Amino acid sequence: MERVISGIRPTGNLHLGNYFGAVKSFIEMQHQYECMFFIADWHSLTTHPTPENIRQSVKTILAEYLACGIDPEVAPIYIQSDVKDVLELYLYLNMNAYLGELERVTSFKEKARKQPDNVNAGLLTYPTLMAADILMHKADKVPVGKDQEQNMEMARLFARRFNRIYNVEYFKEPESFHFNKTAVKVPGLNGTGKMGKSEGNAIYLCDDEATIRKKVMRAVTDAGPTMLNQEKPEPIANLFSLLELVSTKETYDYFNDQYNNMSIRYGDLKKQLAEDINAFCAPIRERILQFSADDDYLRRVATDGAEKAHARAEKTIKEVRQIIGFK
Ligand code: AMP
Repeated sequence: MERVISGIRPTGNLHLGNYFGAVKSFIEMQHQYECMFFIADWHSLTTHPTPENIRQSVKTILAEYLACGIDPEVAPIYIQSDVKDVLELYLYLNMNAYLGELERVTSFKEKARKQPDNVNAGLLTYPTLMAADILMHKADKVPVGKDQEQNMEMARLFARRFNRIYNVEYFKEPESFHFNKTAVKVPGLNGTGKMGKSEGNAIYLCDDEATIRKKVMRAVTDAGPTMLNQEKPEPIANLFSLLELVSTKETYDYFNDQYNNMSIRYGDLKKQLAEDINAFCAPIRERILQFSADDDYLRRVATDGAEKAHARAEKTIKEVRQIIGFK
């Protein structure tokens, strides 16, 4: 069976971007592939050097993963820092990763711009740690959002380069995978760009009804269409993208027709959107509370996940050592 691996950084709660960009694909894949998921707590140090309460953040993300519907019996979940084998692979890959190519990665450039006082080596080598996370499992498929395409390209490059340097056919090139064929970019509510934790424009799965309503009602719009069937400018297209994700087709078509015939009232659209987002989040929110209150269960899930990930990783590291020439 093909192997799937995917991770998420515990730097905040899960938002709709994470869900529709990545987590939804995981859930749909877990019964058809050999899946493992992890919480990338080491990766979070690249942007959060002194993380506030990292244990709590990891616990929260774990509860949220479970609340979304990942079944740890079929798809183990582990915490990155529990499986230290990956560090050795990270080190080997770093030896064959070049400064120029790492500096050209868009997400590195963006983050370096955002945190100019902390352009650390971990940030630069984010793609090698990500590649190590993936290659350690010899994963075939990695469900990620569109924003991760370049890091996936790097993972493939490092796999190919390893094989070439050591003259082996060892690592396969992992492919980005989107269960519904195309990568999703979930927009934010501030008019432009993607939804993200650090963008301050996210709707979280754990947000309560009033918060969701407030966030949606504040979403950026414009003065309304001025021509029949006109193309939607980004802020409006973004609202429709969200509608497409959480509402029924009838609802989407209803507002789309109203936009096209210029009778749309954005207030009504937003009210409906807020209601549909809430209907989507409410059951997840309830399960988040249940899982969060069950420390024993969360601990068991993480321990079991770490054991399974370590068993696989240990084998890979042993083989990699042999290939490079260490005993
Ligand atoms: P992050 O929150 O940046 O650690 O991302 C975790 C996962 O969620 C990655 O697979 C991302 O590609 C995905 N993701 C985050 N934000 C979005 C978004 N706005 N649209 C689509 N996917 C996203």
